[in-house]
Amino acid sequence: MKPQMRNTYVSKTVAALKPSGIRRFFDLASGMEGVISLGVGEPDFVTSWSVREASILSLEQGYTSYTPNAGLLELRQEIAAYLRRKFHVDYRPETEILVTVGASQAIDLALRAILDPGDEVIVVEPSFVAYEPLVVLAGGTPVAVQTTGADGFQLHVAQLEQALTARTKAIIICSPNNPTGTVLRPAELEALARLAKEHDLLVIADEIYAELTYDGGYMSMAAVSGMRERTILISGFSKGFAMTGWRLGFAAAPEDILQAMLKIHQYAIMCAPTMAQYGALEALRSGERDVAEMRSSYRRRRNYFVSSLNEIGLPCHMPGGAFYAFPSIRHTGMTSEQFAERLLIEEKVAVVPGSVFGQSGEGHVRCSYASSLEQLQEAVKRIKRFLARL
Ligand code: PLP
Repeated sequence: MKPQMRNTYVSKTVAALKPSGIRRFFDLASGMEGVISLGVGEPDFVTSWSVREASILSLEQGYTSYTPNAGLLELRQEIAAYLRRKFHVDYRPETEILVTVGASQAIDLALRAILDPGDEVIVVEPSFVAYEPLVVLAGGTPVAVQTTGADGFQLHVAQLEQALTARTKAIIICSPNNPTGTVLRPAELEALARLAKEHDLLVIADEIYAELTYDGGYMSMAAVSGMRERTILISGFSKGFAMTGWRLGFAAAPEDILQAMLKIHQYAIMCAPTMAQYGALEALRSGERDVAEMRSSYRRRRNYFVSSLNEIGLPCHMPGGAFYAFPSIRHTGMTSEQFAERLLIEEKVAVVPGSVFGQSGEGHVRCSYASSLEQLQEAVKRIKRFLARL
């Protein structure tokens, strides 16, 4: 008897995943001329020349083979020194640091290394679009906890506690946050630490924007007393070092977890690209001044852009980090999707609807201010004209 034909070879899990809502807007904007894009989440700087040169030199010298699975030991040592210097956290480069293909892969590995089917992971929303799908792909169940624009999207740990069940295994936090730019304050980190210890939970701390913090010092989740043992620290080179296309990130975690992540990494990836690792090594050795310059440039643009949004009638909290403003558009009566679509079609300014970042993102739009000041000024002019017409 002939077997019955399948309708599709695609797994049910993957078929059920929603495509990224950001993509749809890119596609819509890509066919239009004269668009000012505040949509993309990446630096407008080219990677520092010294970093590019170091990578080119590695190629000239013929360093074109695999590195150790966990990444060049020299690079891991440099990452350990960087984490100690900047964030006061100590990791052993031999066993507790893994070089990955972007922070994206580090998040994926962290989830796959810790989750058993049905384990729950708390995702604080609005959140980076990859967390929930990656939890699902790792066999877990994402549980959303909402924050609100009313208090600048601060985390309320008591509310988070209500979402815990016997299946909760981890909490994903992102500070500074994409899309809100909110930086978690030491008191919130400490409250979260108490909760994690009390309920024996892990925290996956996405600190990819830590270099882009504008108002005072930065505190890493792993630096909070007693948290190093229950934190998977995720970071990388894409944002602070303007290296998105290099695809280089890293994870730092207690040895048993890091080695579990390495086990998956060695089968799935082998190692991060060698020439990118040499570039990253140079970024850590000599990149501090360039990072500081980029940071102050973003800070200037943030100050201009966020105050302008408030002036033209889009209420926006002052984000402490990253390069996103997340103003409220609620008073326009439109959904964030309608607002973004009309703004794009009528004034050719691309922003991202807040709803793509989860339920609590609705009523807001994400605008990246990693654009030139001239472009930001023109965008403000167009948004003002758009609002006046409504
Ligand atoms: N985490 C957050 C919060 C992000 O916004 C992004 C990129 O937009 C990433 C991780 C991914 O970074 P990478 O380019 O290092 O994979």
